[in-house]
Amino acid sequence: MTLDRDAILSLLKGDNDTWLFETARKTTREIFGDEIYLRGIVEFSSFCRCHCNYCGLRAPNKEIRRYRLCRHEIMEAVDELAELNLATVVLQSGEDPHFDVATVGKIITEIKARHQVAITLSLGERGREAFSHWRDCGADRYLLKMETLDASLYESYRPGSGFAARLKGVEHLKRLGYEAGSGIITGLPGMTIETLADDILALTEMTLHMISAGPFVPHPQTPFGENEPADVMVALRTMAILRILNPKANIPSTSALETVQKEGRKMGIESGANVLMFSVTPASVRKSYSIYPGKNQEEKSAADTVAGAHELIRSMGLIPSKKVGGSKVQ
Ligand code: SAM
Ligand code: SF4
Repeated sequence: MTLDRDAILSLLKGDNDTWLFETARKTTREIFGDEIYLRGIVEFSSFCRCHCNYCGLRAPNKEIRRYRLCRHEIMEAVDELAELNLATVVLQSGEDPHFDVATVGKIITEIKARHQVAITLSLGERGREAFSHWRDCGADRYLLKMETLDASLYESYRPGSGFAARLKGVEHLKRLGYEAGSGIITGLPGMTIETLADDILALTEMTLHMISAGPFVPHPQTPFGENEPADVMVALRTMAILRILNPKANIPSTSALETVQKEGRKMGIESGANVLMFSVTPASVRKSYSIYPGKNQEEKSAADTVAGAHELIRSMGLIPSKKVGGSKVQ
Protein backbone atom coordinates (compact mmCIF):
# COMPACT_ATOMS: atom_id res chain seq x y z
CA MET A 1 0.00 0.00 0.00
CA THR A 2 1.15 3.55 -0.60
CA LEU A 3 0.23 6.62 1.41
CA ASP A 4 0.98 10.15 0.22
CA ARG A 5 2.30 12.93 2.44
CA ASP A 6 -1.16 14.40 3.11
CA ALA A 7 -2.54 10.99 4.10
CA ILE A 8 0.45 10.43 6.42
CA LEU A 9 -0.03 13.86 8.02
CA SER A 10 -3.70 13.15 8.61
CA LEU A 11 -2.91 9.75 10.18
CA LEU A 12 -0.19 11.25 12.40
CA LYS A 13 -2.77 13.73 13.70
CA GLY A 14 -5.00 10.82 14.73
CA ASP A 15 -7.73 11.32 12.14
CA ASN A 16 -8.22 7.57 11.61
CA ASP A 17 -6.60 5.61 14.46
CA THR A 18 -8.95 2.63 14.23
CA TRP A 19 -8.14 2.01 10.56
CA LEU A 20 -4.43 2.76 11.08
CA PHE A 21 -3.77 0.35 13.94
CA GLU A 22 -5.99 -2.42 12.55
CA THR A 23 -4.29 -2.21 9.15
CA ALA A 24 -0.82 -2.21 10.73
CA ARG A 25 -1.66 -5.30 12.83
CA LYS A 26 -3.21 -7.10 9.87
CA THR A 27 -0.18 -6.33 7.67
CA THR A 28 2.19 -7.65 10.36
CA ARG A 29 0.24 -10.91 10.79
CA GLU A 30 0.10 -11.43 7.00
CA ILE A 31 3.89 -11.25 6.73
CA PHE A 32 5.11 -12.69 10.04
CA GLY A 33 2.20 -14.87 11.13
CA ASP A 34 1.78 -14.87 14.90
CA GLU A 35 5.50 -14.92 15.66
CA ILE A 36 7.39 -12.21 17.50
CA TYR A 37 11.18 -12.30 17.11
CA LEU A 38 13.30 -11.91 20.24
CA ARG A 39 16.67 -10.16 20.49
CA GLY A 40 18.98 -9.98 23.50
CA ILE A 41 21.11 -6.83 23.74
CA VAL A 42 24.55 -6.84 25.33
CA GLU A 43 25.50 -3.22 26.03
CA PHE A 44 29.23 -3.70 26.39
CA SER A 45 30.50 -0.11 26.74
CA SER A 46 28.91 3.09 28.02
CA PHE A 47 31.88 5.19 26.85
CA CYS A 48 31.08 7.45 23.91
CA ARG A 49 33.07 10.06 21.99
CA CYS A 50 29.94 11.78 20.58
CA HIS A 51 27.99 14.81 21.76
CA CYS A 52 24.39 13.90 20.82
CA ASN A 53 22.24 16.47 22.57
CA TYR A 54 19.55 13.94 23.54
CA CYS A 55 21.61 11.06 24.94
CA GLY A 56 22.82 10.48 28.50
CA LEU A 57 25.94 8.67 27.25
CA ARG A 58 27.23 11.78 25.44
CA ALA A 59 30.93 12.44 26.10
CA PRO A 60 30.48 15.72 28.05
CA ASN A 61 28.25 14.01 30.65
CA LYS A 62 30.62 13.64 33.58
CA GLU A 63 27.92 12.46 35.99
CA ILE A 64 27.32 8.93 34.74
CA ARG A 65 29.35 5.88 35.62
CA ARG A 66 31.24 4.61 32.58
CA TYR A 67 32.01 0.92 32.18
CA ARG A 68 33.44 -1.49 29.67
CA LEU A 69 32.82 -5.24 29.70
CA CYS A 70 35.86 -7.42 29.03
CA ARG A 71 35.75 -10.08 26.30
CA HIS A 72 35.08 -12.77 28.90
CA GLU A 73 32.08 -10.88 30.35
CA ILE A 74 30.65 -10.32 26.86
CA MET A 75 31.00 -14.04 26.08
CA GLU A 76 29.33 -15.01 29.35
CA ALA A 77 26.33 -12.82 28.52
CA VAL A 78 26.16 -14.27 24.98
CA ASP A 79 26.47 -17.86 26.27
CA GLU A 80 23.58 -17.28 28.65
CA LEU A 81 21.48 -15.75 25.90
CA ALA A 82 22.14 -18.75 23.63
CA GLU A 83 21.22 -21.17 26.45
CA LEU A 84 17.92 -19.32 26.72
CA ASN A 85 17.30 -20.08 23.01
CA LEU A 86 17.61 -16.49 21.84
CA ALA A 87 18.72 -16.63 18.23
CA THR A 88 19.97 -13.05 17.87
CA VAL A 89 22.51 -11.15 19.91
CA VAL A 90 22.68 -7.39 19.55
CA LEU A 91 26.06 -5.92 20.49
CA GLN A 92 25.52 -2.27 21.37
CA SER A 93 27.71 0.50 22.79
CA GLY A 94 28.52 4.17 22.68
CA GLU A 95 30.99 5.12 19.95
CA ASP A 96 33.99 3.76 21.81
CA PRO A 97 37.27 3.47 19.84
CA HIS A 98 38.78 1.59 22.81
CA PHE A 99 37.05 -1.39 21.18
CA ASP A 100 39.10 -1.15 18.01
CA VAL A 101 38.32 -2.80 14.68
CA ALA A 102 40.33 -5.95 15.43
CA THR A 103 39.01 -6.39 18.99
CA VAL A 104 35.36 -6.20 17.89
CA GLY A 105 36.22 -8.52 14.98
CA LYS A 106 37.60 -11.15 17.39
CA ILE A 107 34.48 -10.93 19.55
CA ILE A 108 32.27 -11.50 16.48
CA THR A 109 34.41 -14.43 15.32
CA GLU A 110 34.32 -16.05 18.76
CA ILE A 111 30.54 -15.69 19.11
CA LYS A 112 30.04 -17.25 15.66
CA ALA A 113 32.38 -20.13 16.56
CA ARG A 114 30.48 -20.85 19.79
CA HIS A 115 26.85 -20.36 18.80
CA GLN A 116 24.47 -20.46 15.87
CA VAL A 117 23.14 -16.97 16.47
CA ALA A 118 22.72 -13.95 14.26
CA ILE A 119 24.77 -10.92 15.31
CA THR A 120 23.42 -7.39 15.06
CA LEU A 121 25.85 -4.54 15.65
CA SER A 122 24.84 -1.09 16.92
CA LEU A 123 28.16 0.63 17.53
CA GLY A 124 27.70 3.95 15.75
CA GLU A 125 29.78 5.40 12.91
CA ARG A 126 32.99 3.42 12.98
CA GLY A 127 34.04 3.82 9.35
CA ARG A 128 34.09 1.73 6.18
CA GLU A 129 37.07 -0.41 7.13
CA ALA A 130 35.42 -1.42 10.39
CA PHE A 131 32.04 -2.14 8.77
CA SER A 132 33.73 -4.26 6.12
CA HIS A 133 35.98 -6.21 8.54
CA TRP A 134 33.13 -6.96 10.95
CA ARG A 135 31.00 -8.21 8.07
CA ASP A 136 33.87 -10.51 7.02
CA CYS A 137 34.04 -11.78 10.61
CA GLY A 138 30.39 -12.84 10.38
CA ALA A 139 28.25 -9.93 11.63
CA ASP A 140 24.82 -10.22 10.02
CA ARG A 141 23.06 -6.93 10.71
CA TYR A 142 23.91 -3.33 11.56
CA LEU A 143 21.65 -0.71 13.08
CA LEU A 144 22.63 2.90 12.38
CA LYS A 145 19.76 5.22 13.16
CA MET A 146 19.53 8.56 11.34
CA GLU A 147 17.38 9.88 14.24
CA THR A 148 15.82 12.29 11.69
CA LEU A 149 16.13 12.58 7.93
CA ASP A 150 16.05 16.39 8.13
CA ALA A 151 19.69 17.36 7.51
CA SER A 152 19.69 20.62 9.46
CA LEU A 153 17.81 19.21 12.46
CA TYR A 154 20.15 16.19 12.39
CA GLU A 155 23.24 18.38 12.58
CA SER A 156 21.72 20.42 15.42
CA TYR A 157 20.99 17.23 17.39
CA ARG A 158 24.35 15.58 16.75
CA PRO A 159 27.11 18.26 16.87
CA GLY A 160 30.21 17.11 15.03
CA SER A 161 28.40 14.45 12.98
CA GLY A 162 27.62 15.12 9.32
CA PHE A 163 24.23 14.11 7.94
CA ALA A 164 25.52 13.08 4.50
CA ALA A 165 28.24 10.87 5.97
CA ARG A 166 25.81 9.02 8.21
CA LEU A 167 23.40 8.47 5.34
CA LYS A 168 26.26 7.15 3.20
CA GLY A 169 27.16 4.88 6.12
CA VAL A 170 23.74 3.24 5.98
CA GLU A 171 24.01 2.78 2.19
CA HIS A 172 27.49 1.33 2.59
CA LEU A 173 26.22 -1.21 5.13
CA LYS A 174 23.67 -2.37 2.58
CA ARG A 175 26.32 -2.74 -0.12
CA LEU A 176 28.44 -4.87 2.22
CA GLY A 177 25.55 -7.32 2.51
CA TYR A 178 24.44 -6.49 6.03
CA GLU A 179 20.78 -6.48 6.87
CA ALA A 180 20.82 -2.73 7.36
CA GLY A 181 18.67 -0.92 9.86
CA SER A 182 18.00 2.72 10.52
CA GLY A 183 15.33 4.79 12.14
CA ILE A 184 14.29 7.87 14.01
CA ILE A 185 13.50 9.25 17.44
CA THR A 186 10.02 10.80 17.46
CA GLY A 187 9.29 14.02 19.34
CA LEU A 188 12.79 15.46 19.54
CA PRO A 189 12.81 19.22 20.25
CA GLY A 190 12.05 21.19 17.09
CA MET A 191 10.45 18.28 15.24
CA THR A 192 7.00 18.90 13.81
CA ILE A 193 4.40 16.53 12.46
CA GLU A 194 5.65 17.56 8.98
CA THR A 195 9.19 16.49 9.93
CA LEU A 196 7.85 13.10 10.93
CA ALA A 197 5.86 12.68 7.71
CA ASP A 198 8.98 13.48 5.66
CA ASP A 199 11.07 11.13 7.83
CA ILE A 200 8.60 8.29 7.27
CA LEU A 201 8.69 8.84 3.49
CA ALA A 202 12.50 9.07 3.44
CA LEU A 203 12.96 5.91 5.54
CA THR A 204 10.58 4.06 3.23
CA GLU A 205 12.59 5.22 0.18
CA MET A 206 15.71 3.68 1.75
CA THR A 207 14.27 0.10 1.59
CA LEU A 208 15.64 -0.94 4.95
CA HIS A 209 15.71 -4.40 6.51
CA MET A 210 15.06 -2.99 9.98
CA ILE A 211 13.31 0.24 10.95
CA SER A 212 13.19 1.60 14.47
CA ALA A 213 11.07 4.53 15.66
CA GLY A 214 11.22 5.20 19.38
CA PRO A 215 9.94 8.17 21.40
CA PHE A 216 12.28 10.81 22.82
CA VAL A 217 12.82 10.55 26.58
CA PRO A 218 14.58 13.61 28.07
CA HIS A 219 17.74 12.94 30.05
CA PRO A 220 18.41 15.59 32.74
CA GLN A 221 22.17 15.63 32.15
CA THR A 222 21.85 16.67 28.49
CA PRO A 223 21.09 19.96 26.69
CA PHE A 224 17.58 18.58 25.99
CA GLY A 225 16.95 17.70 29.64
CA GLU A 226 14.25 20.34 30.15
CA ASN A 227 12.26 19.39 27.04
CA GLU A 228 9.00 17.46 27.05
CA PRO A 229 9.01 13.72 26.34
CA ALA A 230 7.53 12.58 23.04
CA ASP A 231 3.80 12.07 22.66
CA VAL A 232 3.40 8.29 22.86
CA MET A 233 0.41 8.20 20.49
CA VAL A 234 2.41 10.00 17.79
CA ALA A 235 5.23 7.46 18.27
CA LEU A 236 2.77 4.55 17.92
CA ARG A 237 1.15 6.10 14.85
CA THR A 238 4.61 6.56 13.31
CA MET A 239 5.34 2.86 13.84
CA ALA A 240 1.99 1.83 12.39
CA ILE A 241 2.46 3.96 9.25
CA LEU A 242 6.01 2.63 8.82
CA ARG A 243 4.64 -0.91 9.05
CA ILE A 244 1.99 -0.29 6.40
CA LEU A 245 4.56 1.26 4.03
CA ASN A 246 7.28 -1.31 4.83
CA PRO A 247 5.36 -4.56 5.33
CA LYS A 248 8.43 -6.84 5.32
CA ALA A 249 10.79 -4.81 7.52
CA ASN A 250 11.66 -5.96 11.02
CA ILE A 251 10.29 -3.29 13.37
CA PRO A 252 11.04 -3.42 17.10
CA SER A 253 8.84 -2.33 19.95
CA THR A 254 11.39 -0.13 21.71
CA SER A 255 12.18 0.00 25.43
CA ALA A 256 11.73 3.81 25.24
CA LEU A 257 8.01 3.16 24.65
CA GLU A 258 7.79 1.33 27.95
CA THR A 259 9.56 4.24 29.66
CA VAL A 260 7.11 6.89 28.47
CA GLN A 261 4.01 4.72 28.81
CA LYS A 262 3.06 1.78 31.06
CA GLU A 263 2.62 -1.30 28.83
CA GLY A 264 4.19 0.73 25.99
CA ARG A 265 5.96 -2.30 24.51
CA LYS A 266 2.68 -4.16 24.29
CA MET A 267 1.17 -1.14 22.54
CA GLY A 268 4.15 -1.19 20.16
CA ILE A 269 3.36 -4.78 19.19
CA GLU A 270 -0.27 -3.81 18.73
CA SER A 271 0.93 -1.02 16.41
CA GLY A 272 2.83 -3.22 13.97
CA ALA A 273 6.10 -4.15 15.69
CA ASN A 274 7.23 -7.76 15.19
CA VAL A 275 10.42 -7.68 17.28
CA LEU A 276 11.00 -7.44 21.02
CA MET A 277 14.47 -6.44 22.21
CA PHE A 278 15.65 -6.45 25.80
CA SER A 279 18.86 -5.95 27.70
CA VAL A 280 20.80 -9.00 28.87
CA THR A 281 23.72 -6.82 29.97
CA PRO A 282 25.16 -8.06 33.28
CA ALA A 283 23.15 -6.71 36.24
CA SER A 284 26.30 -5.22 37.81
CA VAL A 285 26.50 -2.52 35.10
CA ARG A 286 23.10 -2.61 33.38
CA LYS A 287 21.72 0.52 35.07
CA SER A 288 24.79 2.52 34.05
CA TYR A 289 23.83 2.25 30.37
CA SER A 290 21.63 5.26 30.99
CA ILE A 291 20.74 6.63 27.55
CA TYR A 292 17.62 8.10 29.20
CA PRO A 293 16.12 7.87 32.70
CA GLY A 294 14.20 4.66 33.31
CA LYS A 295 16.34 2.69 30.83
CA ASN A 296 17.59 -0.69 32.12
CA GLN A 297 16.18 -0.26 35.62
CA GLU A 298 14.96 -3.87 35.86
CA GLU A 299 17.02 -6.01 38.20
CA LYS A 300 15.85 -9.32 36.72
CA SER A 301 18.20 -12.08 35.59
CA ALA A 302 18.40 -12.75 31.84
CA ALA A 303 16.31 -15.92 32.37
CA ASP A 304 13.55 -13.95 34.13
CA THR A 305 13.68 -11.21 31.48
CA VAL A 306 13.20 -13.78 28.71
CA ALA A 307 10.41 -15.49 30.68
CA GLY A 308 8.69 -12.09 31.09
CA ALA A 309 8.96 -11.41 27.35
CA HIS A 310 7.46 -14.84 26.57
CA GLU A 311 4.60 -14.19 28.99
CA LEU A 312 3.86 -10.78 27.45
CA ILE A 313 3.83 -12.21 23.91
CA ARG A 314 1.65 -15.19 24.86
CA SER A 315 -0.78 -12.92 26.74
CA MET A 316 -1.41 -11.23 23.38
CA GLY A 317 -2.21 -14.54 21.68
CA LEU A 318 1.13 -14.43 19.83
CA ILE A 319 4.14 -16.80 19.72
CA PRO A 320 7.65 -16.04 21.03
CA SER A 321 9.76 -17.15 18.07
CA LYS A 322 12.93 -19.21 18.38
CA LYS A 323 13.94 -18.27 14.84
CA VAL A 324 16.89 -16.10 13.85
CA GLY A 325 14.23 -13.85 12.34
CA GLY A 326 16.13 -12.49 9.37
CA SER A 327 14.70 -9.79 7.20
CA LYS A 328 12.09 -10.62 4.59
CA VAL A 329 13.13 -7.54 2.58
CA GLN A 330 15.05 -8.56 -0.58
N1 SAM B 1 26.00 4.80 19.85
C1 SAM B 1 25.33 4.14 18.81
C2 SAM B 1 24.53 5.09 17.97
O1 SAM B 1 24.19 6.16 18.42
O2 SAM B 1 24.23 4.71 16.81
C3 SAM B 1 24.42 3.02 19.30
C4 SAM B 1 23.89 3.15 20.67
S1 SAM B 1 22.74 4.48 20.91
C5 SAM B 1 22.66 4.54 22.64
C6 SAM B 1 21.22 3.71 20.43
C7 SAM B 1 20.05 4.61 20.18
O3 SAM B 1 19.59 5.18 21.40
C8 SAM B 1 20.27 5.81 19.32
O4 SAM B 1 20.28 5.48 17.95
C9 SAM B 1 19.08 6.70 19.68
O5 SAM B 1 18.03 6.53 18.75
C10 SAM B 1 18.63 6.15 21.04
N2 SAM B 1 18.55 7.23 22.05
C11 SAM B 1 19.58 7.89 22.61
N3 SAM B 1 19.12 8.83 23.48
C12 SAM B 1 17.76 8.74 23.48
C13 SAM B 1 16.72 9.44 24.17
N4 SAM B 1 17.00 10.42 25.04
N5 SAM B 1 15.43 9.08 23.91
C14 SAM B 1 15.16 8.08 23.03
N6 SAM B 1 16.10 7.39 22.36
C15 SAM B 1 17.39 7.71 22.57
FE1 SF4 C 1 26.88 8.16 21.80
FE2 SF4 C 1 24.98 6.81 20.48
FE3 SF4 C 1 24.39 8.26 22.67
FE4 SF4 C 1 25.05 9.52 20.43
S1 SF4 C 1 23.24 8.20 20.73
S2 SF4 C 1 25.84 9.98 22.50
S3 SF4 C 1 26.57 8.12 19.56
S4 SF4 C 1 25.66 6.46 22.58
